[in-house]
Amino acid sequence: MLERIVIVGAGQAGCQAVATLRAEGFEGSIVMVGDEPFAPYQRPPLSKTYLMGTMERDRLFLKPDAFYADARCETIFDVPVVSINRGARQVICADGRVLSYDKLLLATGTRVRKIKVPGADLPGIHYLRSIADVDALRPAFQSAKTLAVVGGGYIGLEVAAVARKYDLKVVVLEALDRVMARAVSKPVSAFYEQAHREAGVEIHFNTAVEAFEGEARLTGVRAGGKVFAADIALVGIGVVPNCEIAIEAGLDCSDGIRVDRNCVTSDPVIFAAGDCTRHHDRHGDLVRLESVQNAIDQAKHAALAMAGKPKDYAEVPWFWSDQYDLKLQIAGLAKPDDAIVLRGDPASRKFAVFHIRAGKVAAVEAVNAAPEYLVGRKLIADGASVPPERLADTAIPMKTIV
Ligand SMILES: Cc1cc2nc3c(=O)[nH]c(=O)nc-3n(C[C@H](O)[C@H](O)[C@H](O)COP(=O)(O)OP(=O)(O)OC[C@H]3O[C@@H](n4cnc5c(N)ncnc54)[C@H](O)[C@@H]3O)c2cc1C
Repeated sequence: MLERIVIVGAGQAGCQAVATLRAEGFEGSIVMVGDEPFAPYQRPPLSKTYLMGTMERDRLFLKPDAFYADARCETIFDVPVVSINRGARQVICADGRVLSYDKLLLATGTRVRKIKVPGADLPGIHYLRSIADVDALRPAFQSAKTLAVVGGGYIGLEVAAVARKYDLKVVVLEALDRVMARAVSKPVSAFYEQAHREAGVEIHFNTAVEAFEGEARLTGVRAGGKVFAADIALVGIGVVPNCEIAIEAGLDCSDGIRVDRNCVTSDPVIFAAGDCTRHHDRHGDLVRLESVQNAIDQAKHAALAMAGKPKDYAEVPWFWSDQYDLKLQIAGLAKPDDAIVLRGDPASRKFAVFHIRAGKVAAVEAVNAAPEYLVGRKLIADGASVPPERLADTAIPMKTIV
């Protein structure tokens, strides 16, 4: 009797799981259910080229429609899964459909964290997670004069960079004391702060939003005791993992669905992959990663395990962000106590920051510095020790450092 795998979530991880299951010779049936009205698409361009208008919508899709037919994957779009009946091994869809499974993959991703202050429902306030969000934001860019970006993280800063190209006045309101504080080191934060200021972006730190102002629509943002005039706002204050159906089904969850190195949840026939999961990384730290790399790699490992070929997931995490002419590439997960080594001069807009922990390269942040990023990633994977003075010396080519 052939097995049936149901995948909940038609995003980066769900799509990858279909591809890997078939590549690994899984012969049973596959059903993928997604709550968006689209086939799986890539999100990174949403805050970059798609928002800018230089990338067509068709190019967002991860696979052509024929891929799902060729992979004999039944697709159900625009229908949320509302619950899991673990005893009966069934998922229940919002339209009443009941799908039986032998194995289940949860690849439900995250949703935006909503801001809870007075006026948060005023027209003119935007979030960015989906195609629909950009399709609402882009026309607003054409008519607006001033954009308030709430949250100086990746999404907020990428949107700020695009908005400057639309010639909008941009004000970033950040509750902490530096940009991208959760994700990058202080030197990299300082560099990006300066790059945005040079591009004409106004940035206010230690400035938490207290309320949105306006009668029929947004006219300003009250933050840090002042009112900043704005006719649109983009709120980018993080995401929340979509794990409610997993929690209700009694799966072990804590800010994400807990999975082991084979992406197995606390139920041996239920797997999870991507942004919705929390796992122990290669150093034993419990992490929830929000990245394309993690979604793809966890989906591959979940598919391998579902196909009966488990292989431990221990990849080096990597991430990127595009702002103006600056490509930021990060490998590894930095920690506050790491020693840091600067290679190159930030003023040249091409440099890297290496993070050293217990004598080994633990992470690299590279700005317009592909060799530093690529070699750094390998050094991290190898657990290599490199004398800091060699890493810092730009006269020594990166490729000779490996
Ligand atoms: C604007 C933006 C820019 C980004 N830029 C970068 C970048 O530069 N680099 C990078 O590495 N990462 C970036 N990311 C993050 C990256 O896109 C995510 O890490 C990745 O999409 C995660 O894949 P996933 O499959 O886990 O989740 P998703 O791709 O979000 O897919 C999950 C899908 O499941 C659906 N779903 C949820 N609950 C249910 C349910 N109950 N029933 C049915 N369907 C459900 C969701 O609606 C969604 O369609 C960006 C994200 C955004 C939003």
